Formats: sequence, structure tokens, C-alpha cells
Amino acid sequence: MHILLIEDETDLRVLAASGLERRGFAVDAVPTLAAAHDCLAVSRFDAAIVDRRLPDGEGLSLLPLLARHGVPALVATAFGDVEDRIAGLDAGADDYVVKPYDLDELAARLRALLRRPGQRQPPVLAQGPMRLDTGAQQAWLNDVPLDLGRREFALLRLLLEAMPGVVIRDIVQDRLYTLDEAVSPNALEAIVSRLRKRLAPGGFFIENWRGIGWRLVIGEEP
Ligand code: CA
Repeated sequence: MHILLIEDETDLRVLAASGLERRGFAVDAVPTLAAAHDCLAVSRFDAAIVDRRLPDGEGLSLLPLLARHGVPALVATAFGDVEDRIAGLDAGADDYVVKPYDLDELAARLRALLRRPGQRQPPVLAQGPMRLDTGAQQAWLNDVPLDLGRREFALLRLLLEAMPGVVIRDIVQDRLYTLDEAVSPNALEAIVSRLRKRLAPGGFFIENWRGIGWRLVIGEEP
């Protein structure tokens, strides 16, 4: 799950971003509305966490743009400030989270948000003997849980969503890595290769479309 975090307090931003990444999310963390606009122009996000008091304006002003991109929003509010919370929800926020964040609660609220009806992705993707729960962040092959790294899981999700089509390499790169991480082509190949090995015993293989991307196919590797 790719999260956009907008928070101008550096310590909190770094803490929340690293905490969410340890809990399986990919996070782009930015300090201003302007930087959030830039991110939304180039990347797709599954949810956003929006602080209200930002150096270049009120965080709630971002909600209509997030809605146009189909990105559900959690508004961050100060502890105990009921009016803040009401204003956020009235302005179209999907949920709120109290600062400073309890990271386990924040992760749970994000998962709950992404499970709600009306969100873009179905909660469970299934193809043949493969099942992937996008909310629980778990995949099973022949009912056996797959122990996958965060990026292997994200790649598997993209491949399943695209079946029987090809996932474009740039999209994989965009979804597996945040904007400020440099990605070598070898790193992507290594993730594909690890996932390919994990899926082969279950009768799935990942076709390489040279220079274009990858496709998940049911069957033996030819
Ligand atoms: Ca602030």
C-alpha cells in the first residue's frame, strides 16, 4: 500500500514514515501542500495522511484534490481537539488520527480505510490457487501462507491485478519504491527473481516482457 504522508514537523514525519514502512507500507513523506501536489501529479497512492496546519496552508484544502484522485484521506488532529476532528470529517476526510500517532493504530486505521466498500481495490484478489488479501497484507498459495517481503508482496499484488495483462516496468518501480529512493534496474530484477522462485512450486510463473514489464501466468515455465 502506497501512502502519502503530509506533515511539517520533521521528527513526527520521519518517525511515522519509518514506522509505517516497518509495518509494510510504502510511504512518500512531504512537509508542504506544494510537495503533496507534486507527488499526486506523478504517483498513485492508496491513502493519504494529512496534517492541518502546514507552512503553505490548511491541510483540509487538499481533500478535494485527493478525492478527485480517488485517494482516501486520514486527517491528523491534535489530541483531544474535538472541533478539529469534526471540521476534518465535515470537510470530507474519511477518518482522523490523533497526534502524536500511535503507529499500530495508524496502521490499523489505514488498513480499515482500504477495506471499506467503494475503495478502488477489492479486498481479496484470487487467481487459481492464489489468494491475496490487500487489507491483511497476506497472500496464500494452495492455502499455504506466503512469507513475502514488502516489495515482493507489492509486486505480486500488481501482477494479480493486471492478470492476464502485463504490468509496465515504470509502474512497478513507482509502486515498489518511494520517490526519494534510487532504484537500480538490478534491484527490480532481483525482486522479480525472488518472487518467481516463491511462486514456481505453486504452478505460477512470471513472464519477462523485455523492456516492457512482467506478466503473471498460471502454469509451468515453458
Ligand atoms: Ca503542522
